[in-house]
Amino acid sequence: KVRTRFAPSPTGYMHVGNLRTALYTWLIARSHGGTFILRIEDTDQGRLVEGAVDVIYKTMAECGLDHDEGPDVGGPVGPYIQTERRDLYGKYAELLIEKGAAYRCFCNKEDAAEVDVADGVSIHKYDGRCSRLSEAEIQANLDAGKPYVIRQKIPRGGTTTFHDAIFGDITVDNETLDDQVLIKSDGLPTYNFANVIDDHLMGITHVVRGSEYLSSAPKYNLLYEAFGWEIPTYVHCSPVMRDAQNKMSKRHGDPSYEDLIARGYLTEAVLNYVALLGWSPKGELAEQEVFSLQELVQAFDISGISKSPAIFDIVKLDHFNAIYLRSLSPEDFAKVAEPYIRQSVKNPALSVPEIAALLQARCERLSDIPEKVDFFDALPAYGKEFYVNKKSKTDESVSARMLEAAIPVLEALPQWTSEAIHDALIGLAAQLEVKNATLMWPVRIAAAGKLVTPGGAVEICHILGKEETLRRLNAGLS
Ligand code: GLU
Repeated sequence: KVRTRFAPSPTGYMHVGNLRTALYTWLIARSHGGTFILRIEDTDQGRLVEGAVDVIYKTMAECGLDHDEGPDVGGPVGPYIQTERRDLYGKYAELLIEKGAAYRCFCNKEDAAEVDVADGVSIHKYDGRCSRLSEAEIQANLDAGKPYVIRQKIPRGGTTTFHDAIFGDITVDNETLDDQVLIKSDGLPTYNFANVIDDHLMGITHVVRGSEYLSSAPKYNLLYEAFGWEIPTYVHCSPVMRDAQNKMSKRHGDPSYEDLIARGYLTEAVLNYVALLGWSPKGELAEQEVFSLQELVQAFDISGISKSPAIFDIVKLDHFNAIYLRSLSPEDFAKVAEPYIRQSVKNPALSVPEIAALLQARCERLSDIPEKVDFFDALPAYGKEFYVNKKSKTDESVSARMLEAAIPVLEALPQWTSEAIHDALIGLAAQLEVKNATLMWPVRIAAAGKLVTPGGAVEICHILGKEETLRRLNAGLS
């Protein structure tokens, strides 16, 4: 039975790379009818951020990545917060000492920071001197109350091989592996130790994580072997990059998931795009790019995860976002667009659904909306040169003539419906023997005061209402 876990450290936001790890981890569980677990890895107390765990719950819920076990919902192998598990790691470290796979190290930081050379590369590596202490020496240190850490005892010489579902078999010289600290002098486990213990105790079958942990995997394997525990399937995912050289990084201004949502991207679009950053569907789905979460559950397979790093391309995300915005029903689009429309359209008499209808087909990002519709609330100051348009065969004097003719016709309309406005203007253009555009252009410019508008003259006039339209058209004449 498949059991996977997402094990974020609470940093206060969700990296795009972390979101992808969460998604793949969830997909592996769901596509196998397995169990998805949320575990909070908060042993690095120096990095704790207030409220950060709530951000994780909120993000996961928003994305539809529901967990079956976790700190908030409980489960059979809890607690699911690492600091609440602190007391259970020590005894596993003691067990390793008994098995000869770990030892107490009484060195202070300076003594331990040794540099070794292996294969011509220097690596920071403890020289293992405390692994050679006699029983009597160890006892004397303990009796003297000397502080100690517990280190993993890496075999001298030889190689260690581990298997990764994405990268295949990887073999390393044991000489390159460090006798890493498992338990710190304060008794707390290091990340690398807690991870192995928790994954085993929680029955995790697939460990999905960023490839930055690939170099630690041989050491994990040695721990599993020393305990005699079954090694889970490793699925290491290549990083999400800003460009060919650099990983995405919030510190360097790259957006987190929350930043993207604040910039007007839909969660579904972000998830869809993120799914394809490093995974591709196979067979008859190979060409498909739009996937709902449920479709991803059907299509997802570990073998589709790529070894090469993926480059995050905001233009592609725009493309997905536009697709998702267009696919919403007009009502749902109006709902998500409303707060953005209301940022600049404060007049309650102006209809949000009607304005939304103008935007839906042309919108890539919700955050572009306020600037596109600001003219509804207040006519911007605009120059007379806006009335000049070759294609519509209009210039300043033609426009003045058109507005003069349009004002009484619109004024006479008994009903202010889009249809009535449309028919009246089309009829007037025919009567004046001009192209429709020759009339529509100046009406739209006078009504909106902008060269580029969502929607044409008729829709804009209808939304503005009769009184405001006539006021603006008259202002266009002066
Ligand atoms: N807490 C680690 C992180 O946030 C998780 C690594 C793992 O999944 O093993 O990067």
